[in-house]
Amino acid sequence: MTTGKLYIISAPSGAGKTSLVKQLIADTDKLVVSISHTTRASRNAEQNGVDYFFVTVEVFQDMIAHQAFLEHAQVYDNFYGTARQTVEDYLVQGLDVILEIDWQGARQVRQMWPECVSIFILPPSIAVLRQRLQNRGQDNVEIIDRRMQAAVAEMSHYPEFDYLLVNDDFNTALQQLKCIISANRLLQTRQQQELLALLQDLVN
Ligand code: GDP
Ligand code: ADP
Ligand code: 5GP
Repeated sequence: MTTGKLYIISAPSGAGKTSLVKQLIADTDKLVVSISHTTRASRNAEQNGVDYFFVTVEVFQDMIAHQAFLEHAQVYDNFYGTARQTVEDYLVQGLDVILEIDWQGARQVRQMWPECVSIFILPPSIAVLRQRLQNRGQDNVEIIDRRMQAAVAEMSHYPEFDYLLVNDDFNTALQQLKCIISANRLLQTRQQQELLALLQDLVN
């Protein structure tokens, strides 16, 4: 069976990665998103086990000690990490997996998994980014201010990513993400596994 591909999607907070990934997953077969562990408090609308696994710092540190994370990082004041086992299980089942992680996590994953594909999402402007964080209505003014300050630092890492797209019109950005997935699924190295029987028939 074909092994799945690992995708990293990074963006500053508020650029729209969670909304885009949610729709992308809903519209695409055999594509899943890895649910991260975090020590941050859950927002009103968030559900444990759906948006994140919300854990204590103690549990998080215990998971680090047991090498349970593929990558982990401190973002703002909180810890975030990707559980290794879940991701490996998905890939073995032939599912493509999206990691919605920050640039520090992206670096760790690229070192271990050089064949991963990484995508960076930009907002159309700084003013729009702030507006989106405010409209989302999930974070208080101090948190939004901190995230805006961190946004420039996060965005400065765009050259480390394979693909760069701007989330101005939502459907355009969604379409562009779908193109990236489709193009990678058509790579000869992957099609060689997918089309094994046909190729044997045609070429041998
Ligand atoms: P949002 O991006 O505004 O929805 O804010 P979040 O609090 O959900 O995420 C904060 C930051 O943590 C973002 O930069 C994410 O990319 C990053 N992040 C989320 N999950 C993970 C993870 O599992 N690992 C790493 N390294 N970063 C993560
Ligand atoms: P992130 O996960 O990157 O922090 P979200 O997906 O939570 O971002 O999006 C932040 C806010 O911006 C949400 O309220 C979302 O509905 C809104 N949003 C996302 N993409 C667009 C877009 N293209 N145009 C307008 N609003 C958007
Ligand atoms: P939020 O707290 O607003 O959901 O996410 C804040 C940031 O944390 C986002 O930029 C998100 O990409 C990042 N993040 C979420 N989960 C992980 C993770 O598992 N690992 C890493 N490295 N970053 C994460």
